[in-house]
Amino acid sequence: MPETIGDYSPAPDLLRDKVILVTGAGDGIGRTAARTFAAHGATVILLGRTTQKLEQVYDEIEAAGGPQPAIFPMDLAQARIENFEHFAEAVDQEFGRLDGLLHNASLLGQRTPIANYHYGTWEQVMQVNVNAAFGLTKTLLPMLEKSEAGSIVFTSSSVGRKGRAFWGAYAVSKFATEGLMEVLADEMDGVSSIRVNSINPGATRTNMRAAAYPAEDPKGVTAPEDLMPTYLYLMGDDSSDVNGRQFNAQG
Ligand code: NDP
Repeated sequence: MPETIGDYSPAPDLLRDKVILVTGAGDGIGRTAARTFAAHGATVILLGRTTQKLEQVYDEIEAAGGPQPAIFPMDLAQARIENFEHFAEAVDQEFGRLDGLLHNASLLGQRTPIANYHYGTWEQVMQVNVNAAFGLTKTLLPMLEKSEAGSIVFTSSSVGRKGRAFWGAYAVSKFATEGLMEVLADEMDGVSSIRVNSINPGATRTNMRAAAYPAEDPKGVTAPEDLMPTYLYLMGDDSSDVNGRQFNAQG
């Protein structure tokens, strides 16, 4: 059963000295998570496909007085295992470890019946949402093992916990995301200090939400900032005993 964290007040320096990677850090929830992690003391590695957006988040973090972030542009739709290996080497050289990994980047794909779903779009959604998350996780595990308490957070969705018509590859990719989380969490259980959990953000005011619900008034939708207690809880040491669990960021 998915859980919520209830009232949680993160310490202002909750993530001090931690190195945390956020994928899809240039926009939406990832951008807010990156800024929030930095505001709580983390050095954030900003990974995404649009360099200009990553640079903007970098500037925002610096202007707010956060630790200097790092930028790593990568199009996860094109990335292959060599790219992930190269990235892990760069993280090792620059930081020597990784304390947190937020798998946030995702593609929505089409909202259409399975019978009409375009095969190429299906492949692309699975590549970005599942294969890339696997490739990054696999290659970064040695970096996370070097942390005293590494945290991997996967981003799910309500349609990754209960399938719904017309959500196609996106829903299936989120079921796979939950599966990857569960398998890895079980592998880590009792033998590693790494913990692995998933968050369903719930309806959140971003470009993806607007694309999925074009007729909706965004003003009535929860802002990414309001989700951050759950993200902070899972990245910080308050959750160091929490492994293999599903969270909802909204009550
Ligand atoms: P957005 O579309 O607003 O942001 C997604 C980010 O991922 C963007 O920065 C985007 O880059 C990046 N991204 C997309 N494709 C790639 C790629 N090929 N390579 C690298 N980066 C890429 O989405 P949200 O912020 O809404 O979603 C964040 C997460 O939350 C996703 O996993 C989503 O499935 C999940 N979620 C969101 C909900 C919502 O209501 N918003 C509800 C449930 C789950 P660029 O900026 O260049 O486009």
